[in-house]
Order: sequence, then C-alpha cells, then structure tokens
Amino acid sequence: MSLCPCGSNIEFSTCCLPIINGDVKASSPEQLMRSRYSAYAKKISRYIFDSYEKISKKEQSLDDICSWANETQWLSLIINHTSSFEQDYSPSHPLPTVDFTAFYRHEKRFFRMRENSRFVLEDLHWRYVDADTAEHIELPTPSRNDLCICQSGKKFKRCCANK
Ligand SMILES: [Zn+2]
Ligand SMILES: [Zn+2]
Repeated sequence: MSLCPCGSNIEFSTCCLPIINGDVKASSPEQLMRSRYSAYAKKISRYIFDSYEKISKKEQSLDDICSWANETQWLSLIINHTSSFEQDYSPSHPLPTVDFTAFYRHEKRFFRMRENSRFVLEDLHWRYVDADTAEHIELPTPSRNDLCICQSGKKFKRCCANK
C-alpha cells in the first residue's frame, strides 16, 4: 500500500500502475504524463521508453533512461496546466500539452524543472513526443525544519527528506 508518486492521493496500485502495466489506457495526455512521472519515480524504465511516440523513441536509449532513473529520486509533481484536446483527436490539430513542475534529487542535490510537454495519439494510445523546458534549476538544500522544496507546505524533514 503506497500512495501514487504522481500526487493524486490515490494508491499507486489503482492510479498509475495499471496504466504502466498496460491493463488500462491513459485516457488523456495528463494521465500519460502522470504515469510516466510515476514510472520514473518507481524506476520502471521500460515503460518510459515504450511511451515515447515512435519518431522521438528513435532518439532514446533504454540504457540511458535506466541510468538516469536509477541516479534520480523523484520527489514531487505539480501539474500547472493542461491544454484541452479533442476526443476525436486529429493529427491536423496542434498537439495537446501538459505544463508541469517536478522536483528531484540527484547525487544529494535538489532540482526543480518545469516543462511544457507535447503528446500525440498513436494507434489509440497517448504517447509522449517532446517538451520545451521552461526552467531547470538547482535548489539550495533546505534545513530539516525549513518548508520543503516541493511546495507541499510541510517541513522538509517530514516530506522530501525521507523520500
Ligand atoms: Zn498516479
Ligand atoms: Zn517535499
């Protein structure tokens, strides 16, 4: 029993895991984005690779995704904005986007990144295409009693310090 890394406040086993396992399809770009974040947090690299759209996938290596996932602890996700999308999605429309902020730790240093990611429907499955990075900065390491870097409002020692 553990809450889903994507911040939904739902159990992982009923939130992103069924999507990662392929039992359920992501019903929106946001769901796919959340499931990819959770796969990073749980180091399920194969799913991250598989959920790339096929042209972007050619530029990816499973080994690189694996080592990046293994070196990184994903701490928190905030969805800032999702564009509307048509259920009868057509390739002539602009690609739907999800704007998110994510917090992670890499080699004992803390980072915040904000991206606007693009998604496409491919064979009736939402896939990740690419993203514009709006921000990617290192954060000062907080003291244990400081407010957490992830904007949860909790003290650091009760939040990301333990993740
Ligand atoms: Zn989730
Ligand atoms: Zn936190």
